[in-house]
Amino acid sequence: MANTNKNLNNFYNSNKFLGSFSSYKDIPSSVIEIECCFIGRSNVGKSSLLNAITKNRKLAKTSKTPGRTLSINVFEINNKLNIIDLPGYGFAKVSKTVRENLIILIEDYIKNRKKLDHVFLLIDSKVGIKNSDIDMLDFLNNCSKKFSVVLTKIDKISANHMEFQKKSILSLMKNYRETFQNIYFSETKKNKGINEIQKIIYGFYKQNEI
Ligand code: GDP
Repeated sequence: MANTNKNLNNFYNSNKFLGSFSSYKDIPSSVIEIECCFIGRSNVGKSSLLNAITKNRKLAKTSKTPGRTLSINVFEINNKLNIIDLPGYGFAKVSKTVRENLIILIEDYIKNRKKLDHVFLLIDSKVGIKNSDIDMLDFLNNCSKKFSVVLTKIDKISANHMEFQKKSILSLMKNYRETFQNIYFSETKKNKGINEIQKIIYGFYKQNEI
């Protein structure tokens, strides 16, 4: 067990920010053949999750101000796998045009990026599922993209509330039987649930390697 965790940490230890791109078409080609992405409403905790996975607090910029990231951020892990941090959707305080352009950017990437193997849709456990999440779930389902849900910031809710959120999300997932894979729970300050997410992402790379 200790060795497995050490191997995982070694794997994620080598990480770098490749850049920010305003379209998937602008991402430079590379030898890396597989990637997964994080999507979710603005401020859901995508950057914090990425930093917790890589144990690099400076890798992705976290922010208290929602709606800051407006581009596709590419992070290379161990020269073997990309993790993509997509802009947050559903942020009310930007113009309608900006919101629409963001959705186009996200959907274009998800629909057309051949390397994309898995989508992690993050939900803030205190906020729960919103209409903009349902739109995204429907979109993923319509383009047959496999996805998992990560319920973030679980330190902010009680155990009972977490059970409630889990049950309601799993019930909703009955609508997405073909594409929904799993549900994870995370808390980045005490690293809860991080190891499990590290393992699953590492597994995607390993599967592709065979
Ligand atoms: P992003 O916009 O989705 O990338 O979200 P960030 O990672 O920048 O996080 C938004 C805010 O949520 C920041 O103030 C983070 O410190 C906070 N946050 C992220 N993860 C957690 C968590 O697990 N627990 C708590 N309590 N706060 C978190």
